[in-house]
Order: sequence, then C-alpha cells, then structure tokens
Amino acid sequence: MARRLTLEGAEVVGVFELLPHVNGLSRNLVQCVHDFEIPLHLSTTVIGIHGRERVERVTVAPVGADLRPIVEQAWDVPCDTVLISVGLIPENELTRHLRVRMDPMTSGPVVSSAMETSRDGVFACGNVVHIHDLVDFVSEEASVAGRHAARSALGIAPAADNVRLLPGANVAYCVPHSVSTEREHVVYLRVRRRFERCTLRLCRPDGTVVYERSLRYAIPAETVNLRLRPVALQQFHGDALLVEVTHR
Ligand SMILES: Cc1cc2nc3c(=O)[nH]c(=O)nc-3n(C[C@H](O)[C@H](O)[C@H](O)COP(=O)(O)OP(=O)(O)OC[C@H]3O[C@@H](n4cnc5c(N)ncnc54)[C@H](O)[C@@H]3O)c2cc1C
Repeated sequence: MARRLTLEGAEVVGVFELLPHVNGLSRNLVQCVHDFEIPLHLSTTVIGIHGRERVERVTVAPVGADLRPIVEQAWDVPCDTVLISVGLIPENELTRHLRVRMDPMTSGPVVSSAMETSRDGVFACGNVVHIHDLVDFVSEEASVAGRHAARSALGIAPAADNVRLLPGANVAYCVPHSVSTEREHVVYLRVRRRFERCTLRLCRPDGTVVYERSLRYAIPAETVNLRLRPVALQQFHGDALLVEVTHR
C-alpha cells in the first residue's frame, strides 16, 4: 500500500509496524518500502488520529516488549490520510451460508486432501480456504480441487482420507486438514513465530516422530509447503498426526 500510494503521487511520511520486524515477504519489504525510501518505524503504533473535517495529524508511540504503547515517548506526525493495512481474512460468506465445518484459525472451511469441504460435492481452494502468500500455490491447490470437483460431477467421489492433520507446537494451522497414507499431497502450514534453522515434524499424539525435515527458516508470513509422499508415512498406523515446528 505504501508503494502504491507513492506511485500514485502521495508522500508516505511513515509506515508504523507494531512488531520489531516486518512480517511480510522479504522481497516486499525491499521492493515496496526500502526501494522507495519510505520511512519504516518498527515497534511503533498509532495511538491517536486527530482532525475535524479530515485527518490533520496522528500520534504515534513506540511499544514495549509487551506490545503496549509507551505513551510518554509518543510524538505527532502531521498527515492528511491514515491507511490501516493489517492483514487479510478469507471472504467466506458462501461457505458459512452452506454451514460447512470451519477452521477458526484459517477462518476458512475444513477441507480433505481433495479440497472437499465437510459437505459432499462442495470443494474450495485459494484464499477462501486460507490466505496464500503466492498465487502459484493457489493454482496448485486449485488444480487439485478442480480435478476432484470434475470427477465428483461425474459421480466419482474422492477417495477417503485416513489421517487427520492437527496443528501441534508452534503451528497455527495446516491445510488440507486430512490426508491419505496412500497418495502424495502438498500440505501448507503456517508457523506462529519466526524461526532460524528449525525442524518440521509429524508426530503421533504420544509424541513419537513419524517424519521430520529440517528448514532453514520459517516465518508466519510465508507458508511452509510440505510435499508428503506415501513412503514418509508407510510405517504409520493411526488416525491423527500432529504437525509441529521447533528449534533445531
Ligand atoms: C496486496 C497483495 C499483493 C499480492 N502480491 C502478490 C504477488 O506479487 N505475487 C503473488 O504470487 N501473489 C500475490 N498476492 C497473493 C495473491 O494475490 C493471492 O494469493 C491470490 O490472488 C488468491 O487467489 P484466489 O483466487 O484464491 O482469490 P482472489 O484472487 O481474491 O479471487 C477471488 C475472487 O472471488 C470473487 N468473489 C468473492 N466472493 C464472491 C461471490 N460470492 N461470488 C462470486 N465471486 C466472488 C472476488 O471478487 C475475487 O475476484 C498478493 C496479495 C495481496 C493482497
């Protein structure tokens, strides 16, 4: 948004980010903020918006480790516009209307590995299921949903999944919500916090590790994509796996 406003001729006097780091993709930070020399204030938030006919200034303040503003250190920034750009949520009024099972973490429907919702014959993919950072992953998911939806229209129901995937330590969610030990799947997951060098594990509910993979890093802004092949789960017999990410 900061870059777009700059390109449209506005002077962006500051981007104020609550966290001590920017949560978006690194290339977005470089190409949208640094390359346009837009001032970025980390660990800072807007605590007041002032003006009568329109915005005249905002009051901003640094935040402490608890993310609460340190009001004594606040300062004013003259400006005529405030743009609040703080994340996306799936547009899911259709899925809610259908009363399919929803995942409170993604705010989208619970889906099988065929991208089928809890209602037979209703398939979902893309940002309505969970927010994607790259459209390539939407395309990948859409081809799975489309293939199975077409087969469903011909009266061929998707093969059933036999393992539920449950978010474990440091994992906010994983999609799809179930897989089959017989087929290959791509599982998308999002971590709750930043990690340098970490391990992604699939564990039984008792903690026994079934599969593990090292990751160079994992951050909440980027989905981790796990290509899960049948060979990885060939020793597993059970109906649920916890997906977790921990420090190496
Ligand atoms: C600011 C921003 C920048 C991005 N930059 C990039 C980038 O550089 N590269 C990249 O790969 N990805 C980027 N993404 C991510 C990418 O845009 C999304 O992942 C992708 O567009 C999601 O595709 P989708 O088809 O699921 O949803 P959308 O592209 O949102 O399409 C959903 C469509 O459904 C329509 N719709 C909604 N409700 C209904 C209804 N009831 N009936 C009919 N139609 C309906 C909507 O109007 C919309 O057109 C960016 C996203 C944002 C927000």
